[in-house]
Amino acid sequence: MAKHTVTLIPGDGIGIETTSAMQEVVAAAGADIAWEVADAGAECAERCGTPLPEETIEAVKRNKVGIKGPTATPVGTGFRSVNVALRKTLDLYVCLRPVLSIPGAGGRYDDVDLVIVRENTEDLYAGVEFEEGSPEALELIRFVEEHEAGTIRPDSGISIKPISVTATRRIVDYAFDYALKQGRSKVTAAHKANIMKHSDGLFLREAREVAKGYEGRIAFDDRIIDAFCMNMVMDPSQFDVIVFPNLYGDIASDLAAGLVGGLGIAPGANIGADYAVFEAVHGSAPDIAGKNLANPTAEILSAAMMLDHLGEQATAERIRAAVRAVYARGEHLTGDIRRATASGEAPATCTEFTEALVRELERA
Ligand code: ATP
Repeated sequence: MAKHTVTLIPGDGIGIETTSAMQEVVAAAGADIAWEVADAGAECAERCGTPLPEETIEAVKRNKVGIKGPTATPVGTGFRSVNVALRKTLDLYVCLRPVLSIPGAGGRYDDVDLVIVRENTEDLYAGVEFEEGSPEALELIRFVEEHEAGTIRPDSGISIKPISVTATRRIVDYAFDYALKQGRSKVTAAHKANIMKHSDGLFLREAREVAKGYEGRIAFDDRIIDAFCMNMVMDPSQFDVIVFPNLYGDIASDLAAGLVGGLGIAPGANIGADYAVFEAVHGSAPDIAGKNLANPTAEILSAAMMLDHLGEQATAERIRAAVRAVYARGEHLTGDIRRATASGEAPATCTEFTEALVRELERA
C-alpha cells in the first residue's frame, strides 16, 4: 500500500498535460503516492451533467488531500466556478500562494520571496448576485433608497460584497501563524478601507486586532490596494506575508506571478481545517491546450507544497532544487518563459521540460 493516497483532479485544458507531468516528476522524486483520479470541470460537465460531481467532493474528503489542474467554467449552466464551489463546500478558507523568484525564469526581479494569503470564501466571490432588471434587484434598489443608503440606477446588476469578522479573523490569524511557523517577520494587510468602510474597513479593523496578539513577534502594516500594486511593481522586496480579502488576492496573485516570470511558474494551495487542495494559479489556457506547450512548473511546485503538507519535506525540496537547476541551466524551457524565446530557438515542449526535470532528479 502506498504511503499517501491523493485525489487527483486533472481538470480542463492544459490541466491534462500539467498534471500528468506533475505525476512523473513526483514519482521521479521518490514520493510514495497512490493517485485517485476524480473528475471536474467543463469537460466533466459535458460528460456527466455536472462540473463538480459529488464523488469528486467525497474523494477529497476521503483522502483529505487533493491536487488539481485548472478547471474551466462550463458556459450556460449557471454554475459559477468549480474552484469557488470546491473552496466553499470543503471550507478551504485559505488560498496560499508563495511567490519566489526562480533564477533563469526571466522575472523582473531576482529577489522576490513573499507569500500571498488570500481569503477564499467570501467578498465578491460569495456569489450573491442579482441580475439587472430582476424583481429581486429592483426590490434591493428600493430597499437601499428607502434606507437612504444611496441611489442605484434601476438598470444595474448587483453583486454583494460580504466581509465578515469571522472570516477575516481566521484568515489574518492564519497569515500570522504561517509567518511565525515559517520564520517570516511581517504581515501586511491590503484593503480599500478608505472607500468601503463597512467591508474593507472591517477587514482592516479586525486585522489590526489580530495583529495585537502577535506584537513583538511578527510586525504588521497595511496598504491601500492601489498603492500596494504600485509598491509591488516598484519594489516587491519590501513585502513578506500579505493577507488579502478574496478579490484583491486574486488580482494580486497574477500581478505577483508576472513579476517572477509569469503564470507558468506560480504554485498555490487551498487549505481548510480538514482538507487541502493544491493547484497552480493559472487557468485552463484554452489557447495552448492539447498542444504540448504548457509549462507544468506551477503544477509541479504545487505538488511540492502538497508534499510539504504531507510531511515529505525532503522530497519536496528535491523537486524545488531540480526546478531551480533546470531553470538555471536555461535549456528545455517552455515558450511562456521569456528566456526560452530570447535565443530565437524553438522553445521546449511540456514533455521536453518534464524529461529534463526527471533527468535532473535522477542525477541528483
Ligand atoms: P481560465 O478561463 O481557465 O482562467 P484563461 O486562459 O482565461 O483560462 P489562464 O490560463 O490563467 O487564463 O492564463 C492566461 C494565459 O496565460 C493563457 O491563455 C496562456 O497563454 C498563458 N498561460 C497560463 N498558464 C500557462 C502555463 N502553465 N504555461 C504556458 N502558458 C500559460
